[in-house]
Amino acid sequence: MNIADNLERIKNELPSAVKLVAVSKFKPVSSVLKAYGAGQRVFGESRPKELMEKAMLCPSDIEWHFIGHLQTNKIKMVVPYISIVESVDSLHLLEEIDRFSQSIGRVTDCLLEVHVAREETKQGFSPEDVLQVVSSLSGYPNIRLRGLMGMASHVEDEGRIREDFRLLRSLFDSIRGSSARLSSFDTLSMGMSADWHIAIEEGSTNVRIGTAVFGER
Ligand SMILES: *Cc1c(COP(=O)(O)O)cnc(C)c1O
Repeated sequence: MNIADNLERIKNELPSAVKLVAVSKFKPVSSVLKAYGAGQRVFGESRPKELMEKAMLCPSDIEWHFIGHLQTNKIKMVVPYISIVESVDSLHLLEEIDRFSQSIGRVTDCLLEVHVAREETKQGFSPEDVLQVVSSLSGYPNIRLRGLMGMASHVEDEGRIREDFRLLRSLFDSIRGSSARLSSFDTLSMGMSADWHIAIEEGSTNVRIGTAVFGER
């Protein structure tokens, strides 16, 4: 199947309110342009240099989402080009994005990455820590917190995947309900090629799909 067909098939199944982020990491600019030609305008990248190069070569109306681990010394390669950083995984990173955003006179949309999967990983906040960070948010005037991002366990067991997504959704709902100040807290990013149907059923508003659009990496 080609990229345009893949996109069409996914779009046909995706509720219209759910944003499709086409994850183009490790794929050439020509693949991005094929998807663009089929009408896709939102792309996800996980490496700063790759993102920057593609952003400079591709049409300027593309909305880039950064979805990978971001080291603070690479913020300047990412923030000027993206519409949102989906993968804020530490308070230090949040502070540094705030500081850099102030220096270039912008407010940067961010999602907090939450670790709910069973696998061991250093990436992402625990559900407890996320609540803590949200309550300290007034300290970051150049951050606009838009929501949460997470990944389900990398397992076959659909029940377990669903449980992970449910935990993310309930965390998202409880944060959203907790403060009238969080009027822009509207994005729950969950669901990848293998599990996006389940993520949608569990309330995702933003899916990040790579392999099912562009083929194996
Ligand atoms: C690579 C990646 C995706 C897309 O994964 P696929 O399985 O290829 O759809 C989604 N989210 C994140 C954070 C990724 O790193």
